[in-house]
Amino acid sequence: MPASSSSRSAFELAILAPLYNEEAVVSETLRRLDAVLDSMAQPTEVILVDDGSSDSTPLLLQQKALADSRYQCVLLSRNFGHTLALSAGMSVIRATEALFIIDGDLQDPPELLPTFLQKFREGYDVVYGIRRQRKEGLLKRTAYHMAYRMIRAFASLDLPPDSGDFALVSRRVADLMNAMPESSRYLRGMRAWVGFKQTGIEYERSARVAGDTKYSLNALIRLAFKGIINFSELPVRFITWAGGLSVTLALAYLIYTVIRQWLYHDVPSGFTALVALSVLFHGVTLLSIGLIGEYILRIFMQQKRRPLFVVRTHVRDGMPVSDLHLNHSSPSS
Ligand code: UDP
Ligand code: MG
Repeated sequence: MPASSSSRSAFELAILAPLYNEEAVVSETLRRLDAVLDSMAQPTEVILVDDGSSDSTPLLLQQKALADSRYQCVLLSRNFGHTLALSAGMSVIRATEALFIIDGDLQDPPELLPTFLQKFREGYDVVYGIRRQRKEGLLKRTAYHMAYRMIRAFASLDLPPDSGDFALVSRRVADLMNAMPESSRYLRGMRAWVGFKQTGIEYERSARVAGDTKYSLNALIRLAFKGIINFSELPVRFITWAGGLSVTLALAYLIYTVIRQWLYHDVPSGFTALVALSVLFHGVTLLSIGLIGEYILRIFMQQKRRPLFVVRTHVRDGMPVSDLHLNHSSPSS
């Protein structure tokens, strides 16, 4: 897992990019990354992850990493998807200061590293990119827009809209995200969960240099769904509320009709009881499902085995206790 342990790495910064069947882009990506590396004052490494491409991408990445020790490449055994490719890359980070996560197709310009770094120097642990304008089709733009708003509305987290995985995160945030072993990973949500000071920088998202998007609309919907399910208790709460509301209304209606029948003897027999009882029992069913859902939620949250909280500073015996940011297990740095 994290390579942070003993010897201190020579690298201060890292750039991470996943690539999947990107042979049309690789040479341009490497050229621009080389230029960024040459321009950086701090020693910077590049981590390239091949997500099980069937074209020559892994070959090209491996050639580069063998020839240039500033590059690491991780070749996955098959296609695991963007999120897990990023997770794989994050787990081999050597840089001590910060990690810059970009797309391998250069839609997130690597040249923005110094700009993001400036915010990092101001004390932000997470600096994420906010897309100013999308150069994609109307359908995809609308889909993105709606997905972000929905996740924001549902999730119990402050997820910044119009930001993706493109971000600069401090080494400790990368370590914390690596320390979350949950198998269903919604990285931008996990990043927000970690806390500390976070801020966004607006940027122009470029069009793809070459090749096609590897994300289908279907995959985008799945991603949005993952955001809602992984970070929100609202869907389950909704069932419970709907059940509670039905039961309350049915009971109120039953009491009302009983009183009315007692006073005026004008309630049609049979039908009223049928409606009220039907609403009542449907309500009871919903309520029961909601309650079972609450137990499943707790199991779900527990199985993530996340740290319960993250400590920023701890002062004891008149001095700050350093190297303490997880409440359980030994932190990796
Ligand atoms: N990618 C990946 N595995 C996948 C799909 C995509 O590693 O299963 C990479 C892809 O090569 C690219 C980045 O993730 O570098 C973003 O994907 P893409 O450009 O297809 O998505 P979009 O920018 O269209 O949202
Ligand atoms: Mg892209």
